[in-house]
Amino acid sequence: MKKILAIFTASCLLFLSSCALFGVKDHDHVFDGEWLCTGGYHYKACSVDGCKEVSNKEQHVFENGKCKICDYKQQSLSTTK
Ligand SMILES: [Zn+2]
Ligand SMILES: [Zn+2]
Repeated sequence: MKKILAIFTASCLLFLSSCALFGVKDHDHVFDGEWLCTGGYHYKACSVDGCKEVSNKEQHVFENGKCKICDYKQQSLSTTK
C-alpha cells in the first residue's frame, strides 16, 4: 500500500514539474487580474504563472487627478502656485 502511495506521489511531482516547465507555453492568456501601472500607462498582465504577456496597454485616463480605469494618481507636473 505504501508503495502505491509513493508511486502516486512521484507521478504527481512529475506532473507538477512538467507543468512548471511547459505550462507557460501554449495557453490561452488570462487577463482577469487587476490593472497594473507603469509610467504613464496601465495594462493587464496574464495571470498564468511565469507568463509575461501584457494586454490592454494604454495611457491613463485622468479625471480629477486619478485614472478612472486603474485609480493611478496623477503626478502633479507643476507645483507652482
Ligand atoms: Zn499567458
Ligand atoms: Zn490608468
